[in-house]
Amino acid sequence: MLKERIRELEVISKQLDGTSTSRGEWTEDVIHAGLSFLDTLRQQKTYFNPVHDQSNNAPDTLWEPQETGVPMQDLLRTYQSQIWNHGINAASGGHFGYIPGGGLYPGALGDYLAATGNTYAGIAYASPGGAKMEEAMIRWMNAIVGWGSEAGGTLTSGGSLATLTALIAARDQYISEPGQLEHACIYMTPQAHHCIRKAIHLAGLNFAKIRSIRMNQDYTMNLEDLAKHLADDHSQGMIPFMIVGSAGTTDTGVIDPMQEIAGLAHKYGTWFHVDAAYGGFFALLPELLPSFKGWEKADSIVIDPHKGLFLPYGIGAVLIRDRKKLFNSMRYSAAYMQDAEVDAMDYSPSDYSPELTRHFRSVRMWLPLKFFGINTIRAAIEEKHLLTKYLYAQLNQRGWDMGPQPTLSVFLFRIGHDPSTNELNRTIASLIHQDGSQFISTTTLEGIFWLRIAVLSFRSHLEEADLLIQLLEASRQKAASIKG
Ligand SMILES: *Cc1c(COP(=O)(O)O)cnc(C)c1O
Repeated sequence: MLKERIRELEVISKQLDGTSTSRGEWTEDVIHAGLSFLDTLRQQKTYFNPVHDQSNNAPDTLWEPQETGVPMQDLLRTYQSQIWNHGINAASGGHFGYIPGGGLYPGALGDYLAATGNTYAGIAYASPGGAKMEEAMIRWMNAIVGWGSEAGGTLTSGGSLATLTALIAARDQYISEPGQLEHACIYMTPQAHHCIRKAIHLAGLNFAKIRSIRMNQDYTMNLEDLAKHLADDHSQGMIPFMIVGSAGTTDTGVIDPMQEIAGLAHKYGTWFHVDAAYGGFFALLPELLPSFKGWEKADSIVIDPHKGLFLPYGIGAVLIRDRKKLFNSMRYSAAYMQDAEVDAMDYSPSDYSPELTRHFRSVRMWLPLKFFGINTIRAAIEEKHLLTKYLYAQLNQRGWDMGPQPTLSVFLFRIGHDPSTNELNRTIASLIHQDGSQFISTTTLEGIFWLRIAVLSFRSHLEEADLLIQLLEASRQKAASIKG
């Protein structure tokens, strides 16, 4: 009876593995869909206006699993029509909004390998090669900062989780008794990314005091104000716990004065955290590296390969100058892990990460980096930096009112100098979104509504930049005529 039932079930469950032939067909269907998406990318919109978007009205049965299976080609049709043609097309070279990246195709192929082998690379014992691969990715990023073998880190799903990981390590260094929390002070400007506040909350640091540091005219951190806050807190017996500096803010792409902040952090024994999620990989360019000087004195750095390395979304990293500090917070053990302890001397990613079982995400980084070579990636980063300067100069020439010169690959611009033209600029933005061939995002600083360009899709080249200029000019004229 028992065996009979098992045999019955086996017939069904063997469908999960397919056969060599059926696996080939599934793969061909999926690869065909993916490649035709890429082949037609230039004809696709970058943004499909959600006001007219039918996908919100699509029946739930499209997504909900049902008792019986659906042919692969039907599923792919649903995917193509509901996912790829709605919202922001983040693969498009016309994506100049938020922080784009593009998603290098070999990154997808790396994911394919990782998932096909279902490799578990959290512990050296389970995958010595996989652990070494992740260690090499971390070591390479640490070397960009100028750190050696005493440094460590971990790959995360993105910058937000990397930030949380850094803050937990910092917390464990400084806060050992319950009463200390309300004396701990965190220093950052209003331009610090909102994931920092979220991480403060998630790390249980809600009762810490957040000191909002004044900014200079170019939105970098004002050092006098920082020094004053640190001195005040120190003299009042507070704990100057952490300074958060940005190496490439999301709004304007500026870099806080790293060297000076590091000096103050050293003076007061404060943890120095650098948010380089967006900007970090620009340090690969010899001409921009000096702008980062001082970040090597940081205690922790967050950097996002899914931004500056153009990898598919879902990979961030935290780097820690003294790897022991991360290890102390993240290393746990249990009886059922005893076989793995044999090789505890080897580097195991899970000893530095809040995750145990995790995506083997280093493959999506290793494969493109090794395949193309760092030179190719560096050239693409330099091209984006120069494209940004080109766009800035072109728009300036055409009479747009410009925000500060771009440091990396982000800048603000608008029509007019004060809030009285906010509405006009809002209209320009909404005309661009309605058109959808290119995409930009917007921000508001001190009551002024700004248009914003971020160049970081590896598919953005001169042609896309020129199309964007055309679209901006046309939208500006149209907005003026609507207004008049
Ligand atoms: C994108 C970004 C983050 C958050 O990273 P995610 O990968 O989106 O979680 C943090 N800081 C800066 C400066 C960013 O640009």
